[in-house]
Amino acid sequence: MPQFTSRPPAKPTGYGLDLIRTPANGRITLALTCENIIGCPTHWYGGRTIPCEEVECPGCAATVSWRWHGYVSGLVAPTRRQVLMEFTAQASETIADYHDSQGTLRGSFLVAQRHRNRHNGRVIVALHAAELEKLNLPAPPDVTASLAIIWNVPQTAIAVDGKTDRGPRLTVNDPEKGNNRPAAIATGPPTAAGIQNT
Ligand SMILES: [Zn+2]
Repeated sequence: MPQFTSRPPAKPTGYGLDLIRTPANGRITLALTCENIIGCPTHWYGGRTIPCEEVECPGCAATVSWRWHGYVSGLVAPTRRQVLMEFTAQASETIADYHDSQGTLRGSFLVAQRHRNRHNGRVIVALHAAELEKLNLPAPPDVTASLAIIWNVPQTAIAVDGKTDRGPRLTVNDPEKGNNRPAAIATGPPTAAGIQNT
């Protein structure tokens, strides 16, 4: 006998999420589903962003500089497709500050665009409160597990707020030093205090 439901089955959290970035033209509005932003040092290596794995890291082995990137989950307006979105350290600071002042990101609107709509323009983010009860938000995905899938690293290699024997850190414990490689940004990543998912 067919089992009818009025909604398609929910995807297992952490699977099937696309990772998006701020476009060169136009703006993206997200209704945030996560509680906080979380991020880690990454390398641009082999034509894509990979997490810095610190130990036996291909990026470090190739002496590629690293950048800290932050990640949030949210629904893209107006389609309500849930995605992960990547932000530069600078934009992440704005998001982290908003989290610290409001207590959570969940239920807020985030608008992201690039300065002067240039491909490499600085990412500008603005956040504002929404009427949470009208958003009907789904449960937040497991952002770090979703990133592990996108990056093709074992989820067991991921530690939040700490280090594992091998594998990426998802918070920056020593943002000034990173992994003894020069940071790719002159200003340095944001301090761990503003970012850590406590
Ligand atoms: Zn590395």
